[in-house]
Amino acid sequence: MSITNELLNTVLRHAGQEVSRKEFLNLAGRGLAVGVAAGTLASCHSGGGKAAEATAGTPTTGTPAAEVDASTTYTAPGGQTVASSEAVSPPAKVPAEVSQPIELEAWKSDVDPQSGPVPTPLPPEQRVGYALVGLGHLTLEELLPAFGECKKSKPVALVSGSPEKLKKVARQYGIKPESCYSYQDYEKLKDNAEVQAIYIVLPNSLHAEYVIRGASTGKHILCEKPMANSAQECELMIAACKKANVKLMIAYRIQYEPYNRQVRDMVRSRKFGPPKYIEAQNSQSSANPAHWRHKKALAGGGALPDIGLYCLNTSRFLLGTEPTEVFAYSYSTPGHPLFKEVEEMMSWQMRFPDGVIVNCVTHYNTHDSRFYRVSAERGWLHLDNAYAYQGQRLQTSHAEGPAKMQNQITIPTKNQFAAEMDHFSECILENKPPHTPGEEGLQDQRIMEAIYQSAREGRPVKLPAVPGTDVFRGPEPKPA
Ligand code: NAD
Repeated sequence: MSITNELLNTVLRHAGQEVSRKEFLNLAGRGLAVGVAAGTLASCHSGGGKAAEATAGTPTTGTPAAEVDASTTYTAPGGQTVASSEAVSPPAKVPAEVSQPIELEAWKSDVDPQSGPVPTPLPPEQRVGYALVGLGHLTLEELLPAFGECKKSKPVALVSGSPEKLKKVARQYGIKPESCYSYQDYEKLKDNAEVQAIYIVLPNSLHAEYVIRGASTGKHILCEKPMANSAQECELMIAACKKANVKLMIAYRIQYEPYNRQVRDMVRSRKFGPPKYIEAQNSQSSANPAHWRHKKALAGGGALPDIGLYCLNTSRFLLGTEPTEVFAYSYSTPGHPLFKEVEEMMSWQMRFPDGVIVNCVTHYNTHDSRFYRVSAERGWLHLDNAYAYQGQRLQTSHAEGPAKMQNQITIPTKNQFAAEMDHFSECILENKPPHTPGEEGLQDQRIMEAIYQSAREGRPVKLPAVPGTDVFRGPEPKPA
């Protein structure tokens, strides 16, 4: 490897000092191989007195990337010659604080979206430990895998009625056998110091009991939606958590999902003027009449509390205001084995302040369809797969002069279950109220009760006026 005297002298002149990235690139940009120089710089950078700069945000590590020298080779154990270049660490800011992201050498122009920031996971021993209650579809298919994308949360205990499931799932996720509990032993979570949060993932009718029993263990509670089967149960759950001085959050994952948050921001900032009308649908198909979702006592209702709730809660989240009146129409095919106890379809309108109308439909007997469109004065925003676990597709339309501009917006995605759990962990670690507390679930329950009443009585039902914005929500989550 050749190196000019000029470069060598320059580098030696800077030894013991910081060589700025600009200076270095200037040198490297002359096409000089800098392997030797890089070694010199590396020893300068790692020398004494640099640790303080780690927190000051200056480049704290790194040897600038050397230009690949085609003459450099590596001889493999078998004697083969392999083209190589020197492995180095380009300049980076590495703050000592784990919550601050490492800032890597930038290389993209601002013509394209920027990547990053680099994730800042907490060390495992600092993460909030969760006990998952109920090992059904949601826990096994979504929540436990999502912990892999969490930065502040980890699974540490399981509660189930199936010893076989407990044994197998505990092995798969590295949970100690002594941290597996039956439903009867649920309260023993109190003595498990690793558990700081309990996540209730049981059929709807069990939410109230397991939140109230869970609160008595002194652990914080994250509860799946719908919060419960009645507003009265919701009130008891909120009171039990307040009395036990534990936090209660309802798992409204959509409020932590990046695309829905993007639409919320665009609606609230009046990107296309004031919103006027929302059309929302969440429909799917089911098959098993024996499943709890088709039993009124266990599910509380049919399509409405299970999936229609997403249309209701997300519209409230997008607008920030509360409906003042609902009008609903419900249907179940006569004699259909799935819909003897719960509704097959619910279609309803909600009147919001300022004349905004939200028109929703939810169905248990159609191919899946999950979208909404917010029509504003000067444009619309359409989110396909709005309530799905992934695959959100955001389109907008507005006019510019004679042109109709129709855009598809893409933003970085994030596992919404991980974002939701990490928000709750953040609330526990920083002792602040959750963004979607019990009061948010209670408000939805009150509106759903009005929707059922309207469908039953065939007339609009008024709701108490709730002035203000985000009245039932806690502080905004930090960016996921
Ligand atoms: P599931 O039927 O797959 O699992 C329910 C679990 O509860 C099972 O492990 C089951 O053994 C246990 N269980 C305890 N007592 C039971 C009883 N009496 N009858 C039936 N099961 C009983 O259900 P799931 O789809 O995992 O839903 C669980 C909860 O999560 C529900 O409240 C549901 O609304 C909610 N959920 C939320 C989302 C979301 O996206 N946030 C998605 C699916 C389900």
